[in-house]
Amino acid sequence: MRKIAIYGKGGIGKSTTTQNTVAGLVEAGKNVMVVGCDPKADSTRLLLGGLAQKTVLDTLREEGEDIDLDDIVKEGYGGVRCVESGGPEPGVGCAGRGIITSINLLEQLGGWDDKYSIDYTFYDVLGDVVCGGFAMPIREGKAQEIYIVVSGEMMAMYAANNICKGIKKFAEAGGVRLGGLICNSRKVDNESAMIEELAKRLGTQMIHFVPRDNMVQRAEINRQTVIEFDPEHGQADEYRQLANAIDKNEMFVIPQPLEMEELEKLLIDFGIAN
Ligand code: ATP
Ligand code: MG
Repeated sequence: MRKIAIYGKGGIGKSTTTQNTVAGLVEAGKNVMVVGCDPKADSTRLLLGGLAQKTVLDTLREEGEDIDLDDIVKEGYGGVRCVESGGPEPGVGCAGRGIITSINLLEQLGGWDDKYSIDYTFYDVLGDVVCGGFAMPIREGKAQEIYIVVSGEMMAMYAANNICKGIKKFAEAGGVRLGGLICNSRKVDNESAMIEELAKRLGTQMIHFVPRDNMVQRAEINRQTVIEFDPEHGQADEYRQLANAIDKNEMFVIPQPLEMEELEKLLIDFGIAN
């Protein structure tokens, strides 16, 4: 089984991209589990048709330790197994610890039992490097493979670089590796070339360029992935291609983060200067 975590700046499109890509993997016959690690608990909404899923931490709070796997795992689109870890009450407790509690509980309850023959687990992680919760899944060895969602906007690239610093730190001790950057377009000038170059300098690859398209939001309003909502649409094919690229990926690296000056120069050379 491949254990993948998706990181990236807040609001960059982690949850949307993860679910749409997972739909592509499911369509290709893979068995997938998605574990939402965000207190917002919106990592599985498009796969579950908007079903308000009770989070693992809420279930634990309300029902104590006596929990069945079915209480916390819901089947979604094409049989995807969906879990929302949930979070502590706002302002109280550590989100990272809650994530590990949830993953450990899932393990104890046989969530990854052979009978499910799960090919992929995706962790949709709260992407903020500043929070201790950020590193939890990689620090504890729960995820081995990371993709960073980024765009050509400066703060998204800055966050991606910071995430690489985090990965580098844990990669040296554990086995975690970067599998690539997913460019989720914001229609910035020269965006594809700039993210290709950023990827190259980080020692990784841009695994796919996902265009910005209103179809993503149209599907979202209908609580579906694009592949489910409009399988013939070009955007559905983009997610299929991304799913296929991840499935075939063999490039796993320890990234080399850039110095701030180098990152700024990249922005000037590709973006602002043009
Ligand atoms: P958070 O950090 O808050 O969890 P996130 O990184 O998970 O955010 P999303 O919630 O997935 O971000 O995406 C934010 C918004 O961007 C969504 O409303 C989604 O519809 C939109 N979006 C994402 N990708 C695309 C795209 N390729 N084209 C158009 N809209 C998109
Ligand atoms: Mg999200």
